Amino acid sequence: MEAQVVIFSAPSGSGKTTIVRKLMERLPGRLGFSISATNRAPRGAEKNGVDYHFLTTEEFRKRIDAEAFLEFEEVYKGTYYGTLKSEVARLHNEGKAVLFDIDAVGGANLKKMFGNKACSFFIMAPSRADLEARLRGRGTESEEHIQKRLSKADWEFEYRTKFDHVIVNDDLDRAVAEVESILLNFLEA
Ligand code: ADP
Ligand code: 5GP
Repeated sequence: MEAQVVIFSAPSGSGKTTIVRKLMERLPGRLGFSISATNRAPRGAEKNGVDYHFLTTEEFRKRIDAEAFLEFEEVYKGTYYGTLKSEVARLHNEGKAVLFDIDAVGGANLKKMFGNKACSFFIMAPSRADLEARLRGRGTESEEHIQKRLSKADWEFEYRTKFDHVIVNDDLDRAVAEVESILLNFLEA
């Protein structure tokens, strides 16, 4: 059977990473996290080869030329993120459904590529004010980066119609339970 994929996209600060971490804990062995490559610097406690493959811009370009990416995007000006074909192959070989944490444009592209083998989720905060408060509360970005992320959120939000499921991350436990129930149905199909 062709392996299944699970796609998560969200405006930055919506709580996507928090939800994904909880799901990975709740469904051990079923989901494999696709570790993307990026040329941004590690943030907080992020580790190379765990959260991302952190590359220099030159290393990233070399992989573009070598066609190592299934997809890549310049998500913020000068900052690239990409899904490595080798990651998808590795997780498929382990018999796991591949979980992508990806921007809304990339998420919509992957859904097109994988069709009904993909289950895609768009996560949103209950309001723009909540989104801004969460971004600030996380305390990981400079004011300039917060503004970049908020202005991106405004148009990224329009992409939600391209996803199978839109989840409002109001109460974290409720949102995780909603995603888990949809996902269990999909994985068992
Ligand atoms: P993303 O991956 O979408 O950028 P994060 O998972 O880093 O977002 O979450 C952004 C911030 O919001 C974090 O500080 C996180 O603890 C907090 N957060 C996540 N979900 C909720 C929620 N349901 N209610 C309140 N705060 C939340
Ligand atoms: P962050 O810098 O907050 O980790 O990620 C910024 C954005 O890049 C998020 O929306 C995240 O989902 C997205 N992203 C992470 N990896 C990839 C990837 O491989 N491809 C694309 N297109 N976006 C990605």
